[in-house]
Amino acid sequence: MDTSLAQTPDAARRPPLFLLYLPYPLVFFGGVAVLVAAVARGIPYWRVGPPVLVAAALVVVALELWLPHARAWQRDSGDTVTDVLHFTGNILVNQGSVLVYGPVLTLLHGSSGLWPHLWPFWLQALLGTAVLDLGLYVIHRTSHRVGWMWRLHAIHHSSRRVYWLNGQRRHLVHELLEGAPGLLALGLLGAPPSVVACALATVTLHLMFQHGNFAYRAGVLRYVFAVAELHRWHHQRRWADVQGNYGAILSLWDYLFGTALPKKGEAPLDVGMDDEPTLPQDYVGQLAWPFRRDRK
Ligand SMILES: [Zn+2]
Repeated sequence: MDTSLAQTPDAARRPPLFLLYLPYPLVFFGGVAVLVAAVARGIPYWRVGPPVLVAAALVVVALELWLPHARAWQRDSGDTVTDVLHFTGNILVNQGSVLVYGPVLTLLHGSSGLWPHLWPFWLQALLGTAVLDLGLYVIHRTSHRVGWMWRLHAIHHSSRRVYWLNGQRRHLVHELLEGAPGLLALGLLGAPPSVVACALATVTLHLMFQHGNFAYRAGVLRYVFAVAELHRWHHQRRWADVQGNYGAILSLWDYLFGTALPKKGEAPLDVGMDDEPTLPQDYVGQLAWPFRRDRK
């Protein structure tokens, strides 16, 4: 084991308080607010969603370079190409879902009448995001219990560092599986495509923060939002230690359903997955691994 990774983060370079506490509300909530306000005014999602996501990604990357949580996690460990490919594939699935949702909703005969179309758009976006996020929580939690789902999900835990690209290190089948319950529920309720587009973009934006390798704090917001200081505990090396903190956007689900890991302070930097030693580090190998008979 690389003992340098077992140490606590780069405490010697703690930034001033405003740099610790400002990025999360400013970039995450600010980005979502810009997106939702623009779509509410009738600006098409495609004109504002991707630019907001790219701008947020640039800020996150700049913060990772400037104020890293762990310098050890800045170093490529033969995983960057794999993570770029996972990121590209899953973003295409995520944003492709925006394109597919509208026609599928039409097939489902539009609105079931249950969706609160008369609510202000920002409140509809909030509800849509919560429904989608609850689906992500349920599938994530189940994936830690059901063998075939764990094999798909273990790929996310195989990363030896936690940084912004790592949020999308997920098997393509698991990506589809995770989004399915929330999207199906939203479709059956009759949520408009614009709401679903905002919800999917919000998930993407939050995963960058949840895995971001930069020193930021969320304060009391961590009791509602599944920020990096909570999620890093979900990347410990032993399977037995990662049975909790399943939330993607909201940590609220973990507190409500009793799955919050009772951890204080900083999570260990030595991350990975000891319990799956045969898991390869290359992209094609990772896509094939869950279906291999010689896995163990
Ligand atoms: Zn997990």
